Amino acid sequence: MNLLLLQPEDLGAPSQQHNLVTLSDERAKHIRSVLRASIGDTLKVGLLNGLTGNAEIRAISERSVSLEFELHTPPPPKLPLTLLLALPRPKMAKRIIRAATELGVSEIILLNSYRVDKSYWQSPLVSNESLTGAMLEGLEQAGDTILPSINRELRFKPFVEDKLPSLLQHKMGLFAHPYSTQAVPTKITQPSLLAIGPEGGFIPYECEKLTEAGLQGFSLGPRILKTETAVSAIIARLFL
Ligand code: SAH
Repeated sequence: MNLLLLQPEDLGAPSQQHNLVTLSDERAKHIRSVLRASIGDTLKVGLLNGLTGNAEIRAISERSVSLEFELHTPPPPKLPLTLLLALPRPKMAKRIIRAATELGVSEIILLNSYRVDKSYWQSPLVSNESLTGAMLEGLEQAGDTILPSINRELRFKPFVEDKLPSLLQHKMGLFAHPYSTQAVPTKITQPSLLAIGPEGGFIPYECEKLTEAGLQGFSLGPRILKTETAVSAIIARLFL
C-alpha cells in the first residue's frame, strides 16, 4: 500500500470535518503491523475520489491509529481508456481489474461473449463488493484516489449493436486479437476503447460484430498471451 485511502465516512459529517481521523479497521492494522509506523511518522494519504496529501501519526493503540492529515494534490492523471473485457475466470478477473486500476484505466466494461463460461457471472469474486475491493487495492498501490467506473454487459449482440457505436463517439476503437495482421498502435493520446477477448478468444462472428461497430483489430505478435498478461502489455504499448 503506497497510499492510505480515506473514505468520506471516515471524516464524519461535513460540519464536523477537521483534519484528524481515527481508524480502527484493517487500515489501522496495516499501519501498525505492515508499515510498523510509530507516532510522528508520515504517510501518503488520499480521500476517495478526492485529493491526495500527507498524514502524520498522532496516536497508536492496540485498536486504532489517529492521523492528522492535509490534502492538497490531485491524484495522477487517468489514461483516457475504456477497457471492454470479456469476463475472465473470476480469480483472474479480480487481478486484471486491480492491475487495470493501477495502470489508470478510467472505465471498465465486463462483457459476456461466446467463450465466457456463464457460471463466472455468478461468482462472489466478481460481485460489486469484491471488484470494488480490487479497485481500491489498485488505487492504494498507484497512489490514485479515483475509482474507475465498472459496468456489466451480459448480452453481447445488443451491446455491440446498440450501445457500442455511441460509446465509440470521439474514441479510437481497438480490439486485441492474436490473429490480426495489424500491429498495435503506440504512443496514443486520444480517448480510446480497447476490447480484450476471453481465454478462449473471440469467435469469428464476434470479431465481425466488433469490426462492424467500428473497432480495429490488432495483434501484439505471434505469442498468445494470457488475458492478464495481454492487458498490461497492450496498455503499456498503447499509452506508456
Ligand atoms: N485461445 C485464444 C487466445 C485467447 S488469449 C485464441 O487462440 O484465439 C485472450 C485474449 O488476450 C485474446 O482474445 C486477445 O484479446 C488477447 N491477446 C492474447 N495474446 C494476444 C496477442 N498476441 N495479440 C493481441 N491480443 C492478444
